[in-house]
Amino acid sequence: MQLRNKTALVTGSTSGIGLGIAHAFAREGANVILNGFGDATQIEALRAGIERDHGVKARYDGADMSKADAIESMMAKALAEFGSIDVLVNNAGIQHVAPIEEFPLAKWDAIIAINLSAAFHTIRLAFPPMKSRKFGRIINVASAHALIASPFKSAYVAAKHGIAGLTKTVALEGAEHGVTANAICPGYVLTPLVEKQIPDTAKARGISEAEVIRDVLLAAQPTKQFVTVEQVAALAVYLASDAAGSTTGAIIPIDGGWTAH
Ligand code: NAD
Repeated sequence: MQLRNKTALVTGSTSGIGLGIAHAFAREGANVILNGFGDATQIEALRAGIERDHGVKARYDGADMSKADAIESMMAKALAEFGSIDVLVNNAGIQHVAPIEEFPLAKWDAIIAINLSAAFHTIRLAFPPMKSRKFGRIINVASAHALIASPFKSAYVAAKHGIAGLTKTVALEGAEHGVTANAICPGYVLTPLVEKQIPDTAKARGISEAEVIRDVLLAAQPTKQFVTVEQVAALAVYLASDAAGSTTGAIIPIDGGWTAH
């Protein structure tokens, strides 16, 4: 029970990696605040299931991470109810795949807002109480695309490289206050986000969906296997734990060797 009596807010935790992290944190005894979109009945079942299975408090806030005012109200509510946000995971993210000259302007703006600016907003609001309590763990779910690029993902790669820089800056600002900031950089994990981009990548490259999986996604990963949600969640638990107190400003790949190329 490494996270007992801690409160963790995980953005984009109604699906995929964020949901896996929320489950893993609750298993370690943390109260969790879920966030993200989806069917209200299913989300309530997830929330109630976490409380039932782990004996922790679980709350849900449907704040849209592309909107600063919605983020402000989510953070204020969480701080009012729990007194602190000990662990902040910036995970919400979207993707769009298109050549740069065809990249829709609205998609560029949405990706920068959700994948990058949202983390600035949550961090600037969580940081003062973390500093005064002398404890905080900020975990940004970046991507292998925080370290390297792929064609047709201009907005995503720009946002993820941006979040790596934000992580390092916040690590320096928090270093003497017990606040760490690190970025997790997964390779391909088979979540709805990746499933959705397979047809678009097929179209952009003029190849079949099976070829996208074999020749584009897994070709990049020397292990030839998708990274699992559970593997990413286990790294997040470590970064949230007391044992990780000296790990800060790290941009950590978990990518089956992809960025070793
Ligand atoms: P996913 O689509 O399964 O989950 C994304 C989550 O973000 C969902 O809960 C969704 O509701 C939420 N979300 C989307 N827009 C939102 C908004 N405006 N406001 C609030 N919530 C919003 O995707 P995933 O694969 O689990 O991705 C999670 C994170 O991991 C993303 O930041 C993604 O870039 C990163 N990542 C994923 C992979 C991968 O291969 N799946 C690899 C590297 C990094």
